[in-house]
Amino acid sequence: MIKLRNYQEDLKQLIRQALKKSRSVIACAPTRSGKTVIFADIAQKMQAAGKKVLVLTHRSEILEQIIKALSELNISAGQIVSGKFITKNQIMVGMIQTVHNKLKKQDKLKEKFRFKKFDIIEKPDLIIGDEIHHATSKTWKEVLLYFGDVPRIGFTATPERLDGSGLCELFQILVIGRNTKWMVDHHWLSEPVHLCPPSPLDKATLKIKMGDYDKKSQSEIMKKHIVCADVVKSYRQFFDGAPVIVFCCTIEHAEQMVISYQKDGWNPVIIHGKLTSKQRNDAMEGFKNGTYNQLVSVDLIGEGIDVPVCSGVQLLRKTQSLSLYLQMSARGLTPVHAPGYDLENDAQRKQALMEGKPKSIILDHAGNYWIHGSITKVRDWSINHKKRNSRKVITIKKITCPKCKFDWEADIQKCLHCGYDFKTAHKQRKEFQMHELKDKLINVNEIEQVEAESLSKIILRIKDYKNSKNAMFAILHQKIKDNEGGLQRKIDAMCNGLGYKEGYKHRVWSHLREQYGDRMDRLA
Ligand SMILES: [Zn+2]
Repeated sequence: MIKLRNYQEDLKQLIRQALKKSRSVIACAPTRSGKTVIFADIAQKMQAAGKKVLVLTHRSEILEQIIKALSELNISAGQIVSGKFITKNQIMVGMIQTVHNKLKKQDKLKEKFRFKKFDIIEKPDLIIGDEIHHATSKTWKEVLLYFGDVPRIGFTATPERLDGSGLCELFQILVIGRNTKWMVDHHWLSEPVHLCPPSPLDKATLKIKMGDYDKKSQSEIMKKHIVCADVVKSYRQFFDGAPVIVFCCTIEHAEQMVISYQKDGWNPVIIHGKLTSKQRNDAMEGFKNGTYNQLVSVDLIGEGIDVPVCSGVQLLRKTQSLSLYLQMSARGLTPVHAPGYDLENDAQRKQALMEGKPKSIILDHAGNYWIHGSITKVRDWSINHKKRNSRKVITIKKITCPKCKFDWEADIQKCLHCGYDFKTAHKQRKEFQMHELKDKLINVNEIEQVEAESLSKIILRIKDYKNSKNAMFAILHQKIKDNEGGLQRKIDAMCNGLGYKEGYKHRVWSHLREQYGDRMDRLA
């Protein structure tokens, strides 16, 4: 018997309410929030009510996990996988590709024999789709539309397709459960630590192909010997033997990485779509049981696959797809809670996570952070189509640590990597600039020491404004209101300090004179 956690129960209620309004509902819940458990629970309730459920997935590894979750609820589910006899259980779990093929075959048989009752796959009362962001592919679409009048629930952490297109053709309502930030704050997930070492892709102009950065041209840069060596060096520095998933651009790139890890004495394993499913399973098993240090992946995101041992990821591929970015980065968040604690209790769960796996490192060698932002950022999801490239490109202001060259968001106080103190350095730089400016003002305008000091402060402050001209005018208006004399030379000094041209000083003066008239002459 599985007891749903509170946030899982809440999501289930949201789904139930949505199903009263529409037959097609998408449930958005973060990676590793236990979606399998939720739909196993739903399936169990349906079975008890004498109804049939068809669960669909696109990966055999996930299928096995679902079967396992169901068997923990004492449900023996039938499987629809290629090469296996299809039983007729109340709860069926099928590979989407196999289900698609069988339905086609079923149609042909029906046509041939005109025998309406012939069903290889029986019509279910509910369809549950896992990792539903794949659902706009032809196979998914055809299967879901085949059973068009059957209610369906799709689960995903990222309710838009990897290419950014919407899911509104197949689903009407989107319900959103707790987000990643909440899950991290409440110790249900390990805390992500995003690190951006200097990226070799930073200065490269990458071609766009099929709506994303061309993998081949990235691969050319990323598989250079020196780049691979840097990646391995970072692995040693941050993970030092702990299991990580490495996301590469192409198979050649991944093979190059495997060699580089091996040269450094590690034991990596490669995984990609061209391997047989046995080879893939062996690689996964070896990774889970600690045989391999790195699971070097090409195009396999590993969605839904439970790998608590994974300490983090190395992103060696740049993508414009938010969905892909989040899926890759979240691989290491699967928590490990130390045994002996009550996980329903906040304080105990926190302690269990501290003793288990408190953090997961995302080592982003491709600069994805600067395109998409933090994985815990709260996002507005929508199942509607977005116009191509209409996703707002976030430009996050970044600052490079002068000591270790890691990139950080501009407001960081201290480099989390080498400890460089940005704040003190910034203050020192400002003080230095002020002295320089003050000397310059005294020389140029022969203003007194005190006045030069206060003017330099003002100039340095308004230099940071986006519109420093407006800021300067605001200050001048105030000085006029306060009847401060020596206005002419103050305007000169400010314009000099802000780097405006000679002619601009006169424009400022005449502009103010227009407004204040003779008063300006008295204050000159
Ligand atoms: Zn640093």
